[in-house]
Amino acid sequence: MSAMSATAGRLPSGAVAGSVPGARSRPRSPGGRARLALERLTGIYPDAVCELDHRGPFELLVATILSAQCTDARVNMVTPELFRRWPTPDALSVANPEEVQEVIRSTGFFASKTRSLLAMASRLVEVYGGEVPSGMADLTTLAGVGRKTANVVRSVAFGLPGLPVDTHVLRLSKRLGLTTEDDPTKVELELNPMVPASERGGFSLRLILHGRRVCVARSPRCRECGLADFCPSSTVERPFRPTRSRV
Ligand code: SF4
Repeated sequence: MSAMSATAGRLPSGAVAGSVPGARSRPRSPGGRARLALERLTGIYPDAVCELDHRGPFELLVATILSAQCTDARVNMVTPELFRRWPTPDALSVANPEEVQEVIRSTGFFASKTRSLLAMASRLVEVYGGEVPSGMADLTTLAGVGRKTANVVRSVAFGLPGLPVDTHVLRLSKRLGLTTEDDPTKVELELNPMVPASERGGFSLRLILHGRRVCVARSPRCRECGLADFCPSSTVERPFRPTRSRV
């Protein structure tokens, strides 16, 4: 997936724990770990941004729907032609489905994505005056739009609070001991109060970057990880701390 893929302009490779602020801290609560993870990841990935090319909420919504089971790079290859031919909800709502399919074919699942795009565009025209709504309840009434996509649009296009939970965010949240939940919606609702509203989108983007580059699914590179000193799942041995002995 890549609705939530992110990039970091001046990305240093995974910094080691000792090279980042607060390296000696080891919070014991999920909220404390979330705050420290946010601080560290912001230092490691200062310029995390959404990688889907777009000009405004409508294009981001379309691109995010297309990014299901597809890389952002691939989506960015098809959207210029898609937006050239059907630049608005009005145009897309009356597009020939077969023509849309041909344009987006390489993103996979092109038949169902086409149905979603046309239905989404029709609802934008019929219900929302051709504008993309910003409310979660409204966004999730659109075809092909779940909470993850809605949160991408809210946080990236509108600058509103939104914490998209994809496979990387889910995995890292569990490894960092922020949640024990497996359901993305439950994870999102559990993480929300741990992260300042204005930081939620950026936190998600940075977790995704870290999940791609360091905390990868099969063999996390804990020795390269800037969170290793407080991550409960770290495989890095911590310094021995002698306990007081009775004499
Ligand atoms: S599991 Fe390892 S790589 Fe992943 S966040 Fe924890 S210390 Fe970092």
